[in-house]
Formats: sequence, structure tokens, C-alpha cells
Amino acid sequence: MTPVIALVGRPNVGKSTLFNRLTRSRDALVADFPGLTRDRKYGNGMLGDKAYTVIDTGGISGDEEGIDAAMAEQSLAAIDEADIVLFMVDARAGLQVADEAIANHLRVNQKKTWLVVNKTDGLEEHSAMADFWKLGLGDPRPIAAAHGRNVTTLIEEVLEPF
Ligand code: GDP
Ligand code: MG
Repeated sequence: MTPVIALVGRPNVGKSTLFNRLTRSRDALVADFPGLTRDRKYGNGMLGDKAYTVIDTGGISGDEEGIDAAMAEQSLAAIDEADIVLFMVDARAGLQVADEAIANHLRVNQKKTWLVVNKTDGLEEHSAMADFWKLGLGDPRPIAAAHGRNVTTLIEEVLEPF
């Protein structure tokens, strides 16, 4: 079984940048997934001898009210399809109300969830993580998707059980 990794989070946190890095492709392969919609992009990647599938989502806007509205339908669908959820937040923007709304959903979800703090380039990792512990999703993992900082290490760990 090829593990499926869903990238979720607010718009502009760097989901598509990470997707492109993980799939090394700007044109995602469109896999024959059931329920495929144009709002989710599927790509394949390999790390060592492990294959994986990544789902990019359009993002959950910070402007909606309430968790049902905030969790855009396609993000919920991506979470359903995934074995692993990478919940991405933005170290430069800091913790946002919408992040907390998304975290509330993910905490009750059964899927293995990793809290990934992007855009840590030029920041001191330890202090950049401090705010995000409040989300209650465990150890926040600093990366810089645009530069590749910590990305391979993270994905190795994420894929470890598969
Ligand atoms: P998405 O809306 O979540 O898919 O976010 P994008 O991948 O489109 O990225 C939004 C913006 O953040 C773009 O301008 C990216 O270049 C920038 N960005 C993404 N990753 C990083 C990063 O690691 N560091 C910095 N400084 N900027 C980043
Ligand atoms: Mg995007």
C-alpha cells in the first residue's frame, strides 16, 4: 500500500511549495482516485525505496466562521483519503485563529497528524516553535519548504511506519 499524505492548512502557508518539492513536479499526476475534484491535486514521490502519494489542497480560508465552514469540503475529503496529515502553519504569520479551528478538527480526527511549521528560514527554530505548542498537536516541526530545510528528515519520519 502506498501511503497517502494530505497537506492542509490556511492559504499561503506553503502547501503547494511543499507539494512541488515532494513531487518534483509542477504538473501533478492525476491519479485514479475516487471522488477526484479539481480542488485537490495528487502527486507521487519516492524517498529512498519508499513511494508515497501527496494531496495538495486549495486551503482553508481564515475568513469563514465556524469549523464546518472553515474546513473547506475538499480539505475534509483530502483528510479522509489520507493515511497521514501534514497540517501546515506559517512561522512568519504566527498562530492564527483559523489555525486553532483547523487544529480542533484534526485533534478529533483519527488520522496521524503532524504539525509542520513552515517558513522558518532565517528564524531561530526553537523560538519560532513556541506559539504552536498551544495547538495541542504535539511537537511542532520546523521546515522551510522553499529551501528544503528539514524536509527530507521530516518525510523520512512520517513514512517510517509504512
Ligand atoms: P499555499 O497557498 O499554502 O499553497 O502556499 P504557497 O506554496 O503558494 O506559498 C505561499 C507563499 O509562501 C509563496 O510566496 C511562497 O514562495 C512562500 N513560501 C513557501 N514556502 C516558504 C518558505 O519555506 N520560506 C519562505 N520564506 N517563504 C515560503
Ligand atoms: Mg496552494
